[in-house]
Amino acid sequence: MAVTAVVGANWGDEGKGKMVDYLASNSHFVVRFQGGSNAGHTVINDYGKFALHLLPSGVFYPGVVNVLGPGVALDVRAFAEEIDSLVQRDVPTPTIAVSDRAQVLMPYHRLFDEYEEERLGARQFGSTKSGIAPFYSDKYAKIGLQASELYDKESLRSRITHALELKNVLLEHLYGKPALDVEEVLEELSAQAEILRPYVTDTHKLFVDALRADKTILLEGQLGSLRDPDHGIYPFSTSSSTIAGYATIGAGLPPYVITEVLAVTKAYSSCVGAGPFVTELEGEEAEELRRRGGDAGEYGAKTGRPRRVGWFDAVATRYGASVQGATALALTNLDVLGYLDTIPVCVAYEIEGRVTTDFPTTSLIWKAKPVLRHMPGWKTDISAARHLSDLPKEARDYVAMIERETGVKVKWVSVGPRREQTFEA
Ligand code: GDP
Repeated sequence: MAVTAVVGANWGDEGKGKMVDYLASNSHFVVRFQGGSNAGHTVINDYGKFALHLLPSGVFYPGVVNVLGPGVALDVRAFAEEIDSLVQRDVPTPTIAVSDRAQVLMPYHRLFDEYEEERLGARQFGSTKSGIAPFYSDKYAKIGLQASELYDKESLRSRITHALELKNVLLEHLYGKPALDVEEVLEELSAQAEILRPYVTDTHKLFVDALRADKTILLEGQLGSLRDPDHGIYPFSTSSSTIAGYATIGAGLPPYVITEVLAVTKAYSSCVGAGPFVTELEGEEAEELRRRGGDAGEYGAKTGRPRRVGWFDAVATRYGASVQGATALALTNLDVLGYLDTIPVCVAYEIEGRVTTDFPTTSLIWKAKPVLRHMPGWKTDISAARHLSDLPKEARDYVAMIERETGVKVKWVSVGPRREQTFEA
């Protein structure tokens, strides 16, 4: 049995989608265990370039079962559109199973996300407005709805009536918007129930059988350690846990089954949304890195927003890998740094005159200044490298520096966005 959690060591956008697409060829299951359609996992393979939002990145392999576990925010309309968009581009119809305990993102969650960011104005958190925060708030306030409940008409009516009592007070009196009608919401949910029907199943049972049959499972995280609500830069975090420790809960597997925690990290830093970001660059330097980063510049795969960029942050990444319990790293976007004579790396933070290598809590991160060390650059295109030995010495030294600074072995190196631009270190 091999169960690997592929999770982000940074702020998200590390290249998890690419790594999952690469590793899925040897897997039976790929599972999303948290988050929702706010993800933007870029995958570039023989079918073309895709940004996956809700579907697991194993959808390009017809033999892989792609599971949405009970921990995800299930936006049914986005789910159906995403499947259609794949099939329209000649991807074979993927095999998908949705947990009957996964909760459904309600039509009003998106509205609440939008209205709240509007209300916050300049104080907003940079939400993707996919309804994620309102969804998880309702889940834990026990006014959410599990997929299986869509098929019990009587109970559904009373649960929606109960939820709307509260929602309509907020809509009318906090946001000054029109109230929602129970019948309209029920009608929409009834349509969603039919869309979902072929996919909804008892995924707990599916995994009990899979473990017994010694199947290989990939657990695909969304965002990264620093956006985790407990361990990240709260309140500039997401609303579900991005940590491998949560993966078994959000998927529905026993906690001891994970055999590898693969933390994905970029060779530099990038971040979408608000919050403290110690190595952030400004001006020309930022523009150049942003333009050269990723597969087509550092712009959000979900939002198209320009990503904030900076140098590799060893303090944040060591912490990010540590809270994941990383057993190995996947280092992506190494090719992007090939234009630099010397490469700055943040090895410590200076906070109010004190130098620390420990990642502090949010209020102190705002005050942190990066302590930079400069590594020699390799000044060449490494995107055709297929072995560690193909890399120039300076690039190998950079990989070794990341292992030293994080205390975790780099298992995979990625030198381009395509599936084949990946090798074992
Ligand atoms: P995810 O959300 O963690 O899957 O990451 P995103 O897809 O949001 O962002 C990663 C970006 O880096 C995308 O544009 C990928 O196509 C790109 N990418 C991934 N690995 C590499 C790499 O090794 N080199 C380059 N140049 N781009 C990469």
